[in-house]
Amino acid sequence: MNHLVSFAFEKRGHKAMAKKYGKYHSTMSRRDFMKALGLGGAGLGMASMAPVVNAPAYKDMDEVLSSSEAGLKRPSWVKEVDRPTAEIDWDLFERFDYGEVMFVRGFEKAMGETYVRWASQVGRENTTRWLRQGKPGFTLRDYALDRGTASHAFPAASFLGHRRSPTPASLGVSRWEGTPEENSRMVRGIMRLLGADDIAIVELDENTEKLFYTFDTDGKKINIEHVTNPDEGEDYRTIPKRCRWVIVYTIKMSYELVRRLPSWSAGATTYLGYAQGPFLQDRFQEVIRTLGYTCLGESRPNALGTSTGFGVLGGLGEMSRIEHQITPKRGLSVRVFKMVTDLPLEPTKPINTGVMDFCRTCKKCAELCPANVISSSTETTWEVPGPYKRPGVRSWFKIDPRCISYWRQTGTACGFCFAVCPLTRPQSSSYFNAMRSTISRTTAFNGAFRRMDDMLGWGARKDYESFWDLEFPVYGWD
Ligand code: SF4
Ligand code: SF4
Repeated sequence: MNHLVSFAFEKRGHKAMAKKYGKYHSTMSRRDFMKALGLGGAGLGMASMAPVVNAPAYKDMDEVLSSSEAGLKRPSWVKEVDRPTAEIDWDLFERFDYGEVMFVRGFEKAMGETYVRWASQVGRENTTRWLRQGKPGFTLRDYALDRGTASHAFPAASFLGHRRSPTPASLGVSRWEGTPEENSRMVRGIMRLLGADDIAIVELDENTEKLFYTFDTDGKKINIEHVTNPDEGEDYRTIPKRCRWVIVYTIKMSYELVRRLPSWSAGATTYLGYAQGPFLQDRFQEVIRTLGYTCLGESRPNALGTSTGFGVLGGLGEMSRIEHQITPKRGLSVRVFKMVTDLPLEPTKPINTGVMDFCRTCKKCAELCPANVISSSTETTWEVPGPYKRPGVRSWFKIDPRCISYWRQTGTACGFCFAVCPLTRPQSSSYFNAMRSTISRTTAFNGAFRRMDDMLGWGARKDYESFWDLEFPVYGWD
C-alpha cells in the first residue's frame, strides 16, 4: 500500500473541474443545455439547541397521530421492495467488532504506529501553514467554526436513557396500548417534532440482529439476551430480546456546507448533526418511558450497530459506491442515528430508486477522490479489502486506511465524495426531483445526468469565501 497519500486534490478536484465546466454554470439556456448533453427534445419530463425550528407544531397526541407528518411519506417515485438493492448473504454476514474500524484500532492496525504518528504530524504542520496563509476554506474563521461546533458535537448520550420522566406505574395508570400502525404514526410524529427528517423501522430477527456490533464504539460488549431488563456495566450493554424494533432516522445536513467539503467551515454541519441526534434521543427515550416502554439509544454517534445497514434495510436509503446510504430526498446529505425499543412498531420496507444502477455508470466520486480510495469497478463484489470490513454484502468497498490517512494529513474529515455526488443536490430544485424520478424508472439517462452534473459544476466549485456572505436558513438547512 502506498503510505504517502498524494495531495492531488488541487490537481484532480475542484479547480480542474471548475475550470473545465465552470463556464457552463447557469449561463446556458435549458435548450442549449439539453443539446449539449445530446438530449435536446428527449422529453425527460424535466419539467434549543432546538433542531425543531422547521418542525411541525401539535396541540395534542391525537393531532400527532393524525398529522400528515406522522404518515410514512415517500416521493411517488420511490419503489418499496422486499430485499435491498445491495445483495446480502446472511450466512456470510456476522456481527462485527466496531474496534476494527478506522476510528478505533483499524487505522493503526493497517498502517502501523509510526505511520499514524507521521500522518498526524503532517496534519498539524498543514493546519498551521494554512492558517498562516489564510488558505480559502482553511482560514482562522473557518477553523473557529470547526472547533466551536466540534467542541459540543458529542454530548453525553445514554444507552439506557436518563430516566427522569415518570412511568405509568409511578402515575398509577396502565401503559399506552396501540396497534403497531398507530404506534408507528405516533413515533414518526414525535420524532419529526424533535427534529428527525426521515424515520424507518427495522424488525429484529436472527439475521437483522447481526447488524448490531459485538463490541460497541467505546469497546463495551453488546449482548442480546432473553432478560427482563436492559442493563449496562463497565464493559457491557445488554439489549433484551423483547426489544424487537430498531428506529433508524436521519438528521439533515446543510447542503451549502456539504458542497463545500472538505473545508473546516463545512465540517460544522457534521458536528451539528452529531449534536442534534443525541438531543432528539434524550427526549424521545423519556417519552417512551412515560408511555411504559423501553427505549435504548446510542451512547455516541454510530454506536450499537451499522447505521447504513439498518437504514438500507428500513428503506431510508440505498447502498452507494462510497458505502453510505443515498436517501431519496437528500442524497448523502444526512447523518443517521438509531434506537431500539419494545414498543411494537410496523416495519418499513427497503427501497429501490435506481441508486446502485446510477453508481455503476457515474463513478464521479471514484474519479475525484483526492486519496484515490474509492472503487471504480462497474460491478460490485463480495471480496472485502481488509479486516476493517465484514464480508456478506455485495458492494463496492473503499480502502479506508488511505481515506483516513488523507483526513489526518489535511486535519479535516474530507467528505469530498459527499460534495461531488450528483445524487446529493438541493432537494428544492425541480431538476433534482426530475432527475431522481427519472433514474428510479430507467437507466437510459444515467450517463447524461452525470454529464449534466459536471456541466453545472455542482460540488466541484469551491467558492469557500462566499459561504461567509450567505444568508443562511436555520442550521443551514434548505
Ligand atoms: S472522504 Fe471520500 S473523497 Fe475524501 S478521501 Fe475519503 S473516500 Fe476520498
Ligand atoms: S458520485 Fe456517483 S458513483 Fe459516487 S456515490 Fe454518488 S452517484 Fe454513486
